[in-house]
Amino acid sequence: MSQVRFDGRVALVTGAGGGLGRAYALLLAERGAAVVVNDLGGTARGEGQSSSAADAVVAEIKAKGGKAVANYNSVEDGEKVVQTAIDAFGRLDIVINNAGILRDKTFTRISDQDWDLIHRVHLRGSFMVTRAAWPHLRKSGFGRIIMTASAAGIYGNFGQANYSAAKLGLLGLSNTLAIEGAKYNIYCNTIAPVAGSRLTETVFPEELVKALTPEFVAPVVAYLCHDSCVDNGGLFELGAGWVSKLRWQRTRGAVIEGSMTIENIRDKWGQITDFNQFDYPTSITESMNTIMSHLEKRKLGS
Ligand code: NAD
Repeated sequence: MSQVRFDGRVALVTGAGGGLGRAYALLLAERGAAVVVNDLGGTARGEGQSSSAADAVVAEIKAKGGKAVANYNSVEDGEKVVQTAIDAFGRLDIVINNAGILRDKTFTRISDQDWDLIHRVHLRGSFMVTRAAWPHLRKSGFGRIIMTASAAGIYGNFGQANYSAAKLGLLGLSNTLAIEGAKYNIYCNTIAPVAGSRLTETVFPEELVKALTPEFVAPVVAYLCHDSCVDNGGLFELGAGWVSKLRWQRTRGAVIEGSMTIENIRDKWGQITDFNQFDYPTSITESMNTIMSHLEKRKLGS
């Protein structure tokens, strides 16, 4: 069977100095991509900076005969991060938005800084890097973008209100980029991974951190970045060798006949929330069409 390869492709992996990002960078380089290893090199809470994390991964890639260059900017400086790819390799094809930090606190204890920093790194950082990358992806006639969400965003998680909000924001961003990029062969997908790393070592027991290696996640991300993968706008939950795709499910809902009173809503609540009958809407057109057809029926009925 033919190998999935990335020869001639240039990949930018943010936060690639450790954890998941390092695994993505190593795998893509091993399969022929030239890789920009971005990492600010700060703490898991987003304090300080250092070039050593990115340098170590670049050295590891080069020692195996791969092509890589380091970048030490914060993802908040997206232009500088992307410029490193252009200066070193002259093009850009793949952007993996992975850099991340945590500032876990219960909701009422979240400071302005805890909220803002999480949003700046995860949501704004992914925006800044991707916006800077976009014209280069268009020039390449090919683009694959990954956004890194989290189960905490999809389902919520105690003590992670700031992180959950930013992570699900990335899904919204990805959904629209998938639509705007499709005609340029730029696809954007979102992952919600689980892996042992310094972000999870404070919550998972040591054995679990060791067992849930990032190498379970990296091949999925690499496949999503290959031109043979046709998925665009997808959301994938994965870890421990298990990979799954998620979608929205919507109840068929209820039409409120007659006047729109609180009591009528109460009386129909069972039907409104009944998932025994459901749809899987996939676009804003489908969403709007449902509303418009009910408006039409209401007009005809009146
Ligand atoms: P990690 O701490 O090992 O890796 C994150 C990297 O991002 C670090 O090397 C860090 O230095 C870098 N970074 C932080 N802020 C940066 C900035 N402003 N600019 C550039 N680099 C920066 O943790 P990880 O678990 O590998 O996390 C990778 C991504 O996956 C994160 O976005 C995280 O939120 C997400 N995630 C991880 C898990 C998990 O189970 N590990 C679960 C859900 C989501």
